[in-house]
Order: sequence, then C-alpha cells, then structure tokens
Amino acid sequence: MRGFRRIIFLTVAVFLFASFRANAAQDPGTSLPDDKKGHQIQVVYVETQSSAGSNYHTNGRVKQWVSEIQSWLKSKTGKELIFDTYQGQLDIAYLKYEGNIDMKNDEDLVRMYQKLNPTNYLGKNLAFIIDQKLSTQGDICGWALLSGGYSLAMPNWPDCIDDDEQGIAAFLGLSSSAGTILHEILHSYGVNHACDSTTTSDLMHGEPECAAAGIAFSYLEKMTFDKSGLNYYGGNKTGVDLKTLRIWSDGSGTTEFLIPPNLQIVPPVTTTTTGTTGKKTINCTKGKVSKKITAKNPKCPKGFKIKI
Ligand SMILES: [Zn+2]
Repeated sequence: MRGFRRIIFLTVAVFLFASFRANAAQDPGTSLPDDKKGHQIQVVYVETQSSAGSNYHTNGRVKQWVSEIQSWLKSKTGKELIFDTYQGQLDIAYLKYEGNIDMKNDEDLVRMYQKLNPTNYLGKNLAFIIDQKLSTQGDICGWALLSGGYSLAMPNWPDCIDDDEQGIAAFLGLSSSAGTILHEILHSYGVNHACDSTTTSDLMHGEPECAAAGIAFSYLEKMTFDKSGLNYYGGNKTGVDLKTLRIWSDGSGTTEFLIPPNLQIVPPVTTTTTGTTGKKTINCTKGKVSKKITAKNPKCPKGFKIKI
C-alpha cells in the first residue's frame, strides 16, 4: 500500500443545514442487503475517539451530500455514480473506531468493514465520512489512495464545513463537503489532480501541483468537471478516463474497476471454488492468528507471514 501515492485535497469551509428530512437506511457495521449487484460505492460513517457527535449519518446530511453529488454529476455528464442502497435509500454503514484516524492507520477502517461484510465487500468502493474533531493531517479535508478503492472525508476538521454550505452550493454548483467527498472518490478510482489551464475551478484541481503549474483555484466560478474533456472524462491525462469505467448507473463503460488485491484482506466466503477463477489461496500467519487469503495474486496482510 505504501507504494501508492496518497492524494490530498485542500478545500475551504462548508456549513450547517439546519435540518433534513428522512433518515437514510443505516445499520451498525454491516451493509444492509444490496438493491443492486456489482460495483457500487458504500458510504461508511465513522465515529472516532474525538467524534463531535454530529450524527451526519442520521440527520440527513450525508444523504444530502450524496444527492448533491448525483445531481451535479448528472448535470455535467448525464450520468450518476452507483451508490449502495437498501430499499431505495442510501445504505450508510456505521463504524466506531477506538482511536483517531490519520493517513497511517486509515486501512484499519477498510479491514473493519471487510471483516464485518466478508461476503459482499468485493466490488465495493468505500467512501468513509468521518466524524473526528482531532485534526491529524494538517490543513486538508480528505484524502484517498490513488486507485485504492477507498477514500476519506473529514467534514469536522477546521474549515471543512462551511456555515453557509447551501449558499456555497448555489454559488459553486456543489457544496465544499460534497465536492470533497466526490473529489476523493474520483482519486480512489484512479484520477489524479487535474491542472487545467482552461478552467480555474475544476473538481480535481489540487495542490501543490496546480499552483506550481501557475493555475490558481478560483471560488468565483462554478465548479467544472473536466471542461476540456482531456483529463478524466473523455480523456485520461490524469491517469484514467472515468467514462470507460463500469461505475455508472446507466450501465455504460467497459472496464471493470477492481479493488487492489492487497486491500482485499478478508477472503470471500466461497462455495467450492473451481480453477476457473484463476484465484489462489495462501495461508498467512501472525503469531497464533492465521488467515487464508484468496485472490488472483494473493499477498499476506502487513505483519503476517506466508506459511508454506
Ligand atoms: Zn486531491
């Protein structure tokens, strides 16, 4: 995992919506039964040791961010991403983490989710939204592992929630929290920062590289989604053309997005496997604990040794 490049996103503040209506479906730890098969984004709400008790998962806020993301994407591309739903409601899994999250331990959350959902985590991109007051990574609002299949957003870090998020959404087209969440999700699909000289407000604008390229972000323009069509939607200058991935609700795209095998740390429960999947199983041990890892190219989790 250390070989991947970590990407951070600097964003300005966001705000408080007084109230939202219906709660999204959610259940501690585990994903509710999936409405859809195949690739989807599972939103996971995490409360850590320094949680502010914001309850964005139950007060409608998370649901609002996701619906903002969907309608914004639809206005830009005519498509929406696939979010995990249960009976038509956004399925928000909940995790309690006994510590605080930083870039070094974020993989713990992936592990926790996979352990709780051993039969259906495969094919899911995990979007963690974290209620944590303690800022452990300085002046950022989220990060993701490039192509790693998971991302984190930290709405309770300084200046990451704007009191006038609704106003900002009207102004920029997308509120900063929703923008952060989407920006990080796109990193997790393999999109690197886009420094586009034709726009000063691209969703995938990032620092320090864009400032170094002489392109400053402007909060005076509506946010754009690969305006030139060269970077990540229609072209792949930033590493991937999202249009080609099978991540859209209309079923378009030809390339399946695969979570890196080294992040698949709990073997899926399989009925008698045949050789046709090309998967191998290895035994990994750490002290008295042993694990079977099944993947195309299985690797032992960190700290585990392969047992031959
Ligand atoms: Zn970024």
